[in-house]
Amino acid sequence: MKVDLHNHTLLCNHATGTVNEYVEAAIACGTEYFGFSDHAPMRYDLEYRMSFEEMDLYEQWVKEAQERYKDKITVLLGYEVDYLPGYMDERVLKRSCDYLIGSVHFIDEWGFDNPEFIGRYDHVDMDEVYSRYFGLMEHMAKSGNFDIVGHFDLLKVFKFFPRSDIRLLAKNALKAIKKADMAIEINVSGLRKPVREAYPSQGLLEEIVSLDIPITFGSDAHRIDQVGLLLIFRHHTFNL
Ligand SMILES: [Zn+2]
Ligand SMILES: [Zn+2]
Repeated sequence: MKVDLHNHTLLCNHATGTVNEYVEAAIACGTEYFGFSDHAPMRYDLEYRMSFEEMDLYEQWVKEAQERYKDKITVLLGYEVDYLPGYMDERVLKRSCDYLIGSVHFIDEWGFDNPEFIGRYDHVDMDEVYSRYFGLMEHMAKSGNFDIVGHFDLLKVFKFFPRSDIRLLAKNALKAIKKADMAIEINVSGLRKPVREAYPSQGLLEEIVSLDIPITFGSDAHRIDQVGLLLIFRHHTFNL
C-alpha cells in the first residue's frame, strides 16, 4: 500500500503549492492514501503556520480535493501539531479530522531545527539535549492527543549526535509511544537536510520494529516536487 501522510500546503507560509497540485503529484506517483498534515496554528512561532482563522479554509480545500479526486486516490485530512508545553490548544486537539501528527520542533522554546538558531548547539551538551528531546516525545505520547509521531529523531538534522547510544536515550519515549498505540512515520525530509538520512535512523527503526509499533510514511513535502521522493526511498530501502 502506498501511503504518504505528512504533507504541507502554502498556508503554513514556508511551503508552496496548492492542495490540488499536491494531490495530482501524488496520483502521478501512484500513491493510494495521501494525507495533508499542515502545521497547526499555535500561539508561538506564528510565522511558520496557518492561523486559527485559516483552519476552516484549509479543511475546505482538503475536502474539496477528497471529492474531486475520489476515483483516483484517498485524500486524508490531518494536522502536524507542535508538542510544546504551555501552548497546546484545544481548538486543535479537539478538531475533527483523520489524524494528528505530534512533532517536537522546540526544546524550551528553542527552534532547534531552524538554521537561524544553529549557534545554540555550540553551548549545549548533546546527551542532555537528546534526553530532554526524547523526554518531550514521551510526554507527547502520554498526553494521548496524537496518532502519529512526526520525524522521531529530528534532533539529528544538523548532524549533532549524542555520545551515548541513542536507543537508550529514546527507550522511554518508545515505550510510551507503544503504550499510547501510536504509529511512527518514516519521514524522508531528512534526506534533503544536512544529515542526509531519513527519520528515524536504522538503529531506532530496529527498536521500533522489535516493539511492534506500526509504521507509516511521510514525504513531509513543502514543495510539489518533493512528493515523489518517498516512493523512491521506499523502493530502494524496503523494496516496496
Ligand atoms: Zn514545515
Ligand atoms: Zn515537522
